[in-house]
Amino acid sequence: MSRRLSCLLATIALLALTPVRWSVATGAGLILALTSLGTISPVTAAPSDPAAPVAQDRVIDVPAQRIFSKVIDPDDFECEPTAIDDYVGAQIDSWTLAELLFVIPHQDVLFGVPTYAALFFGTAGDPAYALGSHAAQLRNTFRDVKKFWSGSEEVQSDDIQLMAMHGDVLLDADVVEATLLLMQEYELLSPPLDTASPAQIRAEAMAVATFLQQNVAGGRALYDDPLWTLNAYAFSGEDETDPFLQSLPDKMVFGDGFLDFMEAIGLGDAGPRVVMGHEFAHHIQFELGLFESDLEGPEATRRTELMADAYAAYYGVHKRGLALNAKRVADALFAFYVVGDCSFDSDGHHGTPNQRERAAEWGAELAMASHPNSAILDAREFAELFDSILPMIVAPDAA
Ligand SMILES: [Zn+2]
Repeated sequence: MSRRLSCLLATIALLALTPVRWSVATGAGLILALTSLGTISPVTAAPSDPAAPVAQDRVIDVPAQRIFSKVIDPDDFECEPTAIDDYVGAQIDSWTLAELLFVIPHQDVLFGVPTYAALFFGTAGDPAYALGSHAAQLRNTFRDVKKFWSGSEEVQSDDIQLMAMHGDVLLDADVVEATLLLMQEYELLSPPLDTASPAQIRAEAMAVATFLQQNVAGGRALYDDPLWTLNAYAFSGEDETDPFLQSLPDKMVFGDGFLDFMEAIGLGDAGPRVVMGHEFAHHIQFELGLFESDLEGPEATRRTELMADAYAAYYGVHKRGLALNAKRVADALFAFYVVGDCSFDSDGHHGTPNQRERAAEWGAELAMASHPNSAILDAREFAELFDSILPMIVAPDAA
């Protein structure tokens, strides 16, 4: 079990809050091959026979919900507060007591539904999931990053749909209900919703939509709180065995809350573009089968996340990429994604800050060393180079 999971559970027990499910523990068939900005956590199901092959089950990690718990009870977490904690804290401070008391028992819906509605139902052509804030920036960067890696023939990116997730899906009881039913089916809900009857799910959807509709006043509205959409993720159904999940298009989803947060910390320009580079790297990993490795659990996640950072830094700094300076790229990567881990020990899911920094630096230096400077490495060659230096990146800091 990861330390992140254990520290989350400790807080949950204390507050009697309910966490998102971190792993989908059942069935060989069920793998949500998702990854997000550090926020998708490949979780290894605990095997009863250690020698048995271990399937990696991935669910979308919802960082805002974890940080919500952390902000509510900072003593229970080991990591230092960062910009995202301050941001989440400020949002919580802006709620009335009635709102806070509403949020706590309805967390799974508020933090989960916008994310999973976009996953299950979102399409690029649907106005409900259309890009709003930063639309031109995201569209342009999406086009550019696809072009940047287009020399790598193995990377098929034409079928990826770029879309947003918005909090206003929470106002629609039908969408909330449909999303919750699927979340329940895929074991993404915590008690009591995990075993709720269809009628109870309907009642929960109605309760949330009704409360949020009634509290639209004075220029701020709880349904639109950035916390519900403080995420960005990449999805590919390619490796799914479940027919429904398999049928979902490849997608890249950016939440309004994530864009808001980037603005709030002064990274509105570089942040979303670098994060696009990181998310696109996960698509490269899907396409090239790079999630397969000899590593398991947290170490496997750490490898793919550090590799995505390296890809993003390479794209971010490369003259034919974003051509940003390395510092700007690193800031953007760390601001959001380093906070994913509440424990920075060597088993941490996403690597320690120093490991993250080394991965990003390595990618940046590789870009700067391009000769001629228009040369772009093949995506698989990049991954092989990365794997060859991974031991140095994750070496203890004292070494
Ligand atoms: Zn990631």
